[in-house]
Amino acid sequence: MIYQQTSAQRLKSPFLSKAGISLRIWREDLNHPFISGNKWWKLKYNLETAGKEGHNQLLTFGGAYSNHLYATAAAAHELGFKSIGIVRGEKQPDLNSTLAFCESKGMHLHYISREQYREKNSEAYIQSLRDQFGEFYLIPEGGTNSMAIKGCEEWARQIEEVEDFDYLCLPVGTSGTMAGMVNQLSDKTIVGFSALKGGDFLQVEVQKWLKHDIRNWQIRTEYHFGGYAKVKNELLDFIIDFEREYQIPIDPVYTSKMMYGVFDLIQQKAFKPDSKVLVLHTGGLQGRAGFNF
Ligand SMILES: *Cc1c(COP(=O)(O)O)cnc(C)c1O
Repeated sequence: MIYQQTSAQRLKSPFLSKAGISLRIWREDLNHPFISGNKWWKLKYNLETAGKEGHNQLLTFGGAYSNHLYATAAAAHELGFKSIGIVRGEKQPDLNSTLAFCESKGMHLHYISREQYREKNSEAYIQSLRDQFGEFYLIPEGGTNSMAIKGCEEWARQIEEVEDFDYLCLPVGTSGTMAGMVNQLSDKTIVGFSALKGGDFLQVEVQKWLKHDIRNWQIRTEYHFGGYAKVKNELLDFIIDFEREYQIPIDPVYTSKMMYGVFDLIQQKAFKPDSKVLVLHTGGLQGRAGFNF
């Protein structure tokens, strides 16, 4: 897969100078035109393994606006795999821009009910998909598995080679990216921001993937703005102000909620004085088209 080398840039404003915090943002959103952000790293070793095992078809799951489906469709196209996307919910008369993109990259979309979607990890259901579509390399929802975490650890190594920081902040969905960061960056404090409501279970999810007992991390669960892919005017106003001030686009589902949380924690003086905070721009900008603001 094509990879454009990324790096961090400093965010400068009177607010940050006054707070005495150095805030830098790692622009992983710029790593690839379509396989953007953390999804590139989560797919890297999955696709390598799929190739080595001789698969010619990938199958994965996602919602109608999923960054993961979008990235998987693009990666499959780039590397010459066939792809099947199992989409949660009924087929709509008009394809939204995410699903239209997936189809344009040759992904076969198969719609299932929300009830059926809950079976996405069951052996019997996966077997029924094999009966229907033939053999495939299975990538779970959101792409999170041990291969994905291996990729995120490698990404973390690249970051620590060039950046000096005390805290690393990132958005959390399924927690795979967070687990990779925590595994690799054991001398930093990692702060995850849950993009979903009721994110307390994520603590356990991250823990499942950790290589040893590491405690220098936490997940903030209070910046969900009503739940996964839900927004409030306060968040949309924040996005507009942030983009105007720093000239960096952020997405409504993940990166804006994290960024809002980071600024709130700076305001609350939750970071130690004079510390260096690095935030990960995990991408997701394709999803902006699904929001009108
Ligand atoms: C998928 C995604 C996340 C969440 O990553 P997980 O590994 O599932 O926690 C965060 N940010 C963006 C932009 C994403 O697309």
